[in-house]
Amino acid sequence: MHSQLSLKTNSLALLEDGAVAAVLLGFAPPSTLLLASSSKLNEVLMPNPFHRPQFGFMIDVTKVEGIFSTYGWLRESVFNTGLMVMVMDSADRVDIQLFSTYGWLHESAFNTGLMVMVMDSADRVDIQLSVKMAKSPETEHPLKAVGWATKDTSGVFSPFKFSRRATGEHDVQFKVLYCGVCHSDLHMAKNEWGFTQYPLVPGHEIVGEVTEVGSKVEKFKVGDKVGVGCMVGSCRECDQCTNDLENYCSKMILTYSAVYVDGTITYGGYSNLMVADEHFVVLWPENFPLDIGAPLLCAGITTYSPLRYFGLDKPGMSIGVVGLGGLGHVAVKFAKAFGTKVTVISTSINKKEEAIEKLGADSFLVSRDPEEMKAATGTLDGIIDTVSAHHPILPLISLLKPHGKMVLVGAPEKPLELPAFPLISSRKLLAGSGIGGMKETQEMIDFAAKHNILPDVEIIPIDYINTAMDRLVKSDVKYRFVIDIAKSLKLE
Ligand SMILES: [Zn+2]
Ligand SMILES: [Zn+2]
Repeated sequence: MHSQLSLKTNSLALLEDGAVAAVLLGFAPPSTLLLASSSKLNEVLMPNPFHRPQFGFMIDVTKVEGIFSTYGWLRESVFNTGLMVMVMDSADRVDIQLFSTYGWLHESAFNTGLMVMVMDSADRVDIQLSVKMAKSPETEHPLKAVGWATKDTSGVFSPFKFSRRATGEHDVQFKVLYCGVCHSDLHMAKNEWGFTQYPLVPGHEIVGEVTEVGSKVEKFKVGDKVGVGCMVGSCRECDQCTNDLENYCSKMILTYSAVYVDGTITYGGYSNLMVADEHFVVLWPENFPLDIGAPLLCAGITTYSPLRYFGLDKPGMSIGVVGLGGLGHVAVKFAKAFGTKVTVISTSINKKEEAIEKLGADSFLVSRDPEEMKAATGTLDGIIDTVSAHHPILPLISLLKPHGKMVLVGAPEKPLELPAFPLISSRKLLAGSGIGGMKETQEMIDFAAKHNILPDVEIIPIDYINTAMDRLVKSDVKYRFVIDIAKSLKLE
């Protein structure tokens, strides 16, 4: 049987018998994606609420291979909302309605990125997708948790109740004390990278105090100060994992908005409680400030790792840091601690005094000043480019000496223009780097403690987060917000 689905909107989907088909109908919900395996449809087993018993089906969602949404592949439990979907196709139209265990849903149900499954029968389409109610974020795990979440692309935060898993054998449970606000949190809150799972509790610069450890935990005990950065899991078996490069594991699990091994969505540190596998937890150095230090867990390792890996950590080297924000200002501090000469490269002269007097940079270049840039041609051994807005890179590459290395750690949305000739003629290297492995993250935090490297932060209460995000958009922060979770997050 070939099942043909005609959607008046803009697409045609052919679902082959026994096959799983996914068709993208466009990026604007609700005209999104359909997925079904016709062999996995069973005749309806329940009273048909739509009074169309002759064409009713019930789908066992445990047999559906996956559901695709505008936000990427969804896990099974997206059905946890108890949604029932009904799709009708009469000769000239498709009528989509959603019925949940709570009654008919209004359109905004689609905002969750829910997809509609559509199959036809010989002469009409009339499908019901009955979804078994699993559990809500609040009840899917045993430990009650509270945080602040964004529920949709507006990116507006509000209090959110959810739950954490019980402390497993290898898990560390800790009370969150502080959490840094990374630029990624802002992108993710508004789904600007296209894979946000709502509700979203961001935060991957998390520090706290251990309250419970699993029976097989070796590195931590109750009362220890700990940190969790950008990832909470990986396969632990691949070449990357076995070489302490979990950050490059293809199965790396992000601290928030990712699917954990148990199938549930991960929630980050804008919350009162964390449970994480000890392998992805770092031990916080004694007497090292938890609040100011928190951003090192992302901004710190993101800049420390490329300086180390690319050998840009040798005393006397000349290192350029492009962009003076959350990442850039920490890059300056690490590069200085390695004994290099640091040049801050920025579009604005306004940051010169700050860069040199406060952060200890040796020199400052205004990237929009052609004379200054020309004078500095061929002077740098390496460049860490932290800028995540689109920007020209040829002038930066020109600053490198022959064999110089430029490493991108900021991620502009649009491709950068890369002329090959300047690279070829002087054997220059352009590379990328993303956070660091767990061993290196621990090394970074220990190094930071030893050399007293601390980000410049502004401590805020959690209920300031919406204002903080507005300010972050305007780069109106020096240089990182850190949320005082313990003091400001209301548990009720
Ligand atoms: Zn980050
Ligand atoms: Zn791996």
